[in-house]
Amino acid sequence: MTEQRRVIARVIEAATDHPDVEELHRRAASIDNRISISTVYRTVKLFEDAGIIERHDFRDGRARYESVPGEHHDHLIDLRTGTVVEFRDEEIELLQEKIARELGFKLVDHRLELYGVPLDDPAKKTR
Ligand SMILES: [Zn+2]
Repeated sequence: MTEQRRVIARVIEAATDHPDVEELHRRAASIDNRISISTVYRTVKLFEDAGIIERHDFRDGRARYESVPGEHHDHLIDLRTGTVVEFRDEEIELLQEKIARELGFKLVDHRLELYGVPLDDPAKKTR
């Protein structure tokens, strides 16, 4: 692994959000300014093919990346701000297994994305 790839790997590992390639490039270049955007593109493709990182499409036209999490989680996307909230719900996990089983399948993977807008906070209205 080249030094530049190592920097990109560290940046992805450190990210708590779900950055796109441009954001990964910004962060990697702040550590080593010789890292080009095409190197970032090539490297994330490589990592993705190797199963080290996951690519997400949250419907904003940009591929987003995160390290493959130790424990599975799903995502809720705030359509107003693009903020991505991670969650895990055991009821949903079990329900999905049940549905697959009833259809004659053993569930091996799934993706679930919820898209929403924040509920109006009633406390704010009365003020
Ligand atoms: Zn995530």
